[in-house]
Amino acid sequence: MDQIKYELPETEMPRQWYNLAADLPTQILPPLGPDGNPISPEMLAPVFPMNIIEQEVSTERWIDIPEEVRQLLAMWRPAPLFRARRLEKALGTPAKIFYKHEGMSPAGSHKPNTAIPQAWYNKQFGIERLTTETGAGQWGSALSFACSLIGLECKVFMVRISFEQKPFRRVMMETWGGKCVPSPSEETQAGRHILAEMPDTPGSLGIAISEAVEQAVTDPSGKTRYSLGSVLNHVMLHQTIIGLEAKKQLAMAGVKKPDVIIACCGGGSNFAGLAFPFVQDKINGDDIEIIAVEPKSCPTLTRGPFSYDFGDTAEMTPLLAMHTLGHNFVPPPIHAGGLRYHGMAPLVSQCVVEGLVKPKSYHQLKCYESAVMWARTEGFIPAPETSHAIAATIDAALQAKEEGKEKTIVMNWSGHGLMDLLGYEKYFSGQLADHELPQEDIDKGLAAIADLPNAPENKTGKW
Ligand SMILES: *Cc1c(COP(=O)(O)O)cnc(C)c1O
Repeated sequence: MDQIKYELPETEMPRQWYNLAADLPTQILPPLGPDGNPISPEMLAPVFPMNIIEQEVSTERWIDIPEEVRQLLAMWRPAPLFRARRLEKALGTPAKIFYKHEGMSPAGSHKPNTAIPQAWYNKQFGIERLTTETGAGQWGSALSFACSLIGLECKVFMVRISFEQKPFRRVMMETWGGKCVPSPSEETQAGRHILAEMPDTPGSLGIAISEAVEQAVTDPSGKTRYSLGSVLNHVMLHQTIIGLEAKKQLAMAGVKKPDVIIACCGGGSNFAGLAFPFVQDKINGDDIEIIAVEPKSCPTLTRGPFSYDFGDTAEMTPLLAMHTLGHNFVPPPIHAGGLRYHGMAPLVSQCVVEGLVKPKSYHQLKCYESAVMWARTEGFIPAPETSHAIAATIDAALQAKEEGKEKTIVMNWSGHGLMDLLGYEKYFSGQLADHELPQEDIDKGLAAIADLPNAPENKTGKW
């Protein structure tokens, strides 16, 4: 029998996270405050607990995973590495395709990998309530799940278009005890302001972040903090458990070094999770192609400049040096809600600036076509976000076929699509279209950040 799953015993779950900041040849630029000067860790204290801020600024290469966190992660980790043999056969490719199955967590995606430690560190710090935003609802449900395990209240601002398209995600949050409202809402100044200007807005992650941050920092009890599901350094850190497990599993499969690493990219966390341990190998001399995949309707890495920008629409966050479409950019309402973010993790952006990572973008119809091919070969129905990684994986496998090369491709299967079947239904009935984003729309988003500080593209030129 040909082996399909490479499974690690629980005892082999990584004991430390990997911090790419320790190895990047050129450091990321510091976040800036409203005065244009680098912020101090203390300035983040109203938003995050200090134990998480320490991780955010750490340059230690390895950071211990607390035993209690490992115990909770063991509910579904280590996640299996699959070999996509049936897809390989359908494509007739000599490539070996492996995928890390992150859809087996209770919330259905990679997001609980950071929701659990974030809730745990907040609890340790004496926090009682977390606020957050959610796009497609994946992060909101992951954090609601984590808060229910750890004993915290959870309040979620959900991007309105997804709140309407994906009511079952809200029910999941409520089942785990979270409270979910559509964003923009009447509950915050930021929300009221945007509703007054754009009553019909589909909402955006940038707006929802503004609302969640505002509600955290204005709680007079001081017992509320904000939690972000992607973008920040500590989130990338927590997700590296994916790639660290994958390395051990690839060794079990007899793979010494993969040739291609692929993941989809919204804020960058599932990508970083799989890719960063391999970026370390690439920095140390390995020849690996590392591809970050995004939608053509929200082309942050492929069409956005590297610049300082706010993480949210109401300009409440520090300025981050990243690829961005501008914090006022509201992407067309495609179904991959988790990929509709104007910015990108600064660590992922720096990898792109350095040439360690290559970005690529796809239209949604091609992604759905790939997702359906996947479901009919590998069985599991992917999230619309994940389908972007699948489209790129199929292309890489077909390229290997053309070149006659037996490449090893490793993809992050970031989550299942069982809560996203409405998108599939629309695809099957021909109701979905591709959005070619006009340059004017991008220019409009970028005009709003023209006066923000310039972010120099520092790179060694080695890659
Ligand atoms: C949230 C989400 C993404 C995108 O977020 P990243 O932080 O870029 O990983 C991708 N896939 C799934 C299934 C998601 O839920």
